Amino acid sequence: MNDQTLAIHAGYEKDAQGTMAVPIYMSTAYEFRDAEHAANLFALKELGNIYTRLMNPTTDVFEKRFAALEGGVAAIGTASGMAAIFNAIANVAEAGDNIIVAKQVYGGTTTLTAHTIKRFGIEARFFDVNEPSQIEALVDDRTKLVLFESITNPSVDVADFEAIVAIADKHGIITCVDNTVATPIFCKPISYGVDIVVHSASKYTTGQGLALGGIIVERENLVEKIKGNARYYHFNEPDISYHGLVYSDLPLPPFVLRVRLALLRDLGAAPSPFNSWLYIQGLETLPLRMKQHASSALAIAKFLESHPKVKRVNYPGLESHRGYPLVQKYLPKGQSGLLSFEVEDAALAQKIADRTEIFKIVVNIGDSKSIITHPASTTHQQLSAEELVAAGVPGGLIRLSVGLEDTDDLIADLAQALEA
Ligand SMILES: *Cc1c(COP(=O)(O)O)cnc(C)c1O
Repeated sequence: MNDQTLAIHAGYEKDAQGTMAVPIYMSTAYEFRDAEHAANLFALKELGNIYTRLMNPTTDVFEKRFAALEGGVAAIGTASGMAAIFNAIANVAEAGDNIIVAKQVYGGTTTLTAHTIKRFGIEARFFDVNEPSQIEALVDDRTKLVLFESITNPSVDVADFEAIVAIADKHGIITCVDNTVATPIFCKPISYGVDIVVHSASKYTTGQGLALGGIIVERENLVEKIKGNARYYHFNEPDISYHGLVYSDLPLPPFVLRVRLALLRDLGAAPSPFNSWLYIQGLETLPLRMKQHASSALAIAKFLESHPKVKRVNYPGLESHRGYPLVQKYLPKGQSGLLSFEVEDAALAQKIADRTEIFKIVVNIGDSKSIITHPASTTHQQLSAEELVAAGVPGGLIRLSVGLEDTDDLIADLAQALEA
């Protein structure tokens, strides 16, 4: 089935009431039929609901629907995008291990990998997403994950999936891509050999800036990479915290199963059923919304590219984008709603942000409402002038998250702001 049909129907089987809309199951726990049923569920002899930190019927629909859209076999919802990324890392790496991370990633992912997991004894080794061959020299026998973004936030670079996956596969290392910006509507990383896809559901999934959430999706047959692989010995040996369960021996997708049984159990970053219900509402219109985000963003990118006060425009849909051949290969149907452009200096950039009326000054993306951000004075404020240039964030850089307002109105808003 195609995306628009999956987005409306996948993962939902009606109960006896025939409820058309997916119900919100606000319940912390579930009653067992009898003591044996309870024991069977805990022993995984039967699958069923135990406690909402582990699973919930509303969240289950969200997980199945998202897995279908990504072309994966299983998924698990989390309380935020950062919780999804942390759980994906914690599922494979422990003290003494390392992971390989693209330099061009979301700010929270940079601080998580460079600083926070370091305190857990996990080292992050960074590569330039535009130079996948750098990965090879970073690999050793304690490397557990290669983590990158399909379209990077905020630099809007595009990853060469097949080049990255080829190196990781050669060494039997799991690959994980953050597909938040591209969304499964424009890019399906699993179809290019990626093992795990993570998302911040807070962005395009809800689509209206309504709720914080995340998701982890696993590809089919990942067990073949894990089974007997010394890097992932903890999937192949009895888990003493779950009375000797061996994840790679079960007929269930092992990555998502271990996040559910061990990590959500112990770390607890599970989504609220109400938020899962909001993501389900969002997914219904995701394919339609993404088309509009992308077509407006392309029109705005072209307008900005022709404007005398604009020095440079970064948008993967423009032929001038350095990753344009990769865009043709991996994102042919659309390049999402995120773009950045550079004007003379920081003072002019701030003036432009102050003058826009429809574009609001906010640090978020993927909202129906258009957003303008000046990274040098907000998200990247602590960096020196030289560091800003090295990070690809010159003082005159402005980031736009193009919303769903009328395209002509958005262009007119930027045109009058550029008169500043
Ligand atoms: C926002 C974002 C995150 C973090 O997600 P939260 O839901 O805010 O925790 C991770 N990756 C990308 C690409 C993002 O844009």
